[in-house]
Amino acid sequence: MQNIVLFGPPGAGKGTQSQKLIDKYGFVHLSTGDLLRAEIAAGTALGLEAKQLMDKGILVPDEVVVGMIDNKIKSNPDAKGFIFDGFPRTVAQAESLDKMMSQNNIKINGMIALVVDEEELTKRLLVRGQTSGRADDQNEELIRKRVQEYNSKTMPVADYYTGQGKYSAIDGIGEIDEIFTGICAVIDQF
Ligand code: AMP
Repeated sequence: MQNIVLFGPPGAGKGTQSQKLIDKYGFVHLSTGDLLRAEIAAGTALGLEAKQLMDKGILVPDEVVVGMIDNKIKSNPDAKGFIFDGFPRTVAQAESLDKMMSQNNIKINGMIALVVDEEELTKRLLVRGQTSGRADDQNEELIRKRVQEYNSKTMPVADYYTGQGKYSAIDGIGEIDEIFTGICAVIDQF
């Protein structure tokens, strides 16, 4: 079983690459952004609360996303592996993930970071906003806020995995298939 954290700022290509990894390796995809948007679409109390923060480009509380991930891990006991996309986004979430993993006798094999600069991210997200229907992709100020949240709260998560000897970086600018080949080369070494 291989469990991978796909890391990078909003617009780095995590969703696109996750889809290709699912097709190739049969991993279960756990995207906290997708799970939160599903809660919003279902009109749950959790979704309503999360929406207030997501609409401002601010992270939702750690307990909320950790609880959702815990449920998903438990409801997929036969998974070939998990690909974590957009989670963990804080060091506290990374610590909780390690605890959840060890409770289930599994572990994170590694973090793969997609590296893309802020100007390119903003461009990509504004283009995505034209088709994704996501309000948070359509407003440049909100995009910059999300990148700021990433830089202040999420970047330290890379150090957390570096400390465990589990960090690899891939250039996230270029052809989608080339980037994918780079990611697979890392995974195949785990
Ligand atoms: P994403 O689809 O990953 O870009 O996430 C969209 C929004 O959902 C983010 O801007 C956050 O407000 C929220 N979100 C998603 N994942 C997390 C997480 N792991 N921790 C906190 N907030 C999150």
